[in-house]
Amino acid sequence: MKGTERRRELLAWLEAKESLSLAEIVARFGVSKMTAHRDLDILEKRQALKRIHGGAIASKKSEGIIPTTIDPAARRRDDCLICQRPVSQHLLYSLTTIGSDQRPYCCPHCGVSAQLANPEQTAMAMATDFLTGRPHPAQHSWFVLGSVVVPCCHPSMLTFEDEAMARRFQTGFGGRLGRLSNALAYLQDEMRLHHEGSGCPHCAAADVSKENEQQREGRDP
Ligand SMILES: [Zn+2]
Ligand SMILES: [Zn+2]
Repeated sequence: MKGTERRRELLAWLEAKESLSLAEIVARFGVSKMTAHRDLDILEKRQALKRIHGGAIASKKSEGIIPTTIDPAARRRDDCLICQRPVSQHLLYSLTTIGSDQRPYCCPHCGVSAQLANPEQTAMAMATDFLTGRPHPAQHSWFVLGSVVVPCCHPSMLTFEDEAMARRFQTGFGGRLGRLSNALAYLQDEMRLHHEGSGCPHCAAADVSKENEQQREGRDP
């Protein structure tokens, strides 16, 4: 397939899917990573898409914003930085990284993935109580991991300010109860199960931190 033809097809595919990982592009077109990067560069110069870490998003997602940088933080502010889902109040998880502002994630699943990806850079993590919508520090949060309630990303990861309420939720909807350290370990295990290049946005974000393996602190409280 010619380059121009491939890029046209890539763009149509991206518009349908809204976001693509580099691995998906490589797998579909059977090209090298370098070629995939070059295609994305060419299309970005035409403002046909926006590049993000490990892939690209359709440019209509950033409509109304004049792209000045390829920094993912420059995208629509209220969308999740990992999976581009809109952020809802009862699920918001935000990270303050050293030397930057607060970054929003759609739910604890994506927020904890981002923490796994950059363990040293997280200055503060804020979780939201799933029941009340109240924000509180993630270090004090009770996480229900893998319950049957999946309002956002899979596997489900929900945070509660109050231990008793978290236990009641877990009794009703299953999953495991844990703290932030358990959530980090849980997600790391989950991501190992995914095949490389499956296009999972959480895996793509964590790829960069494969070397800085997180310290395990036991799975159950
Ligand atoms: Zn997300
Ligand atoms: Zn999510």
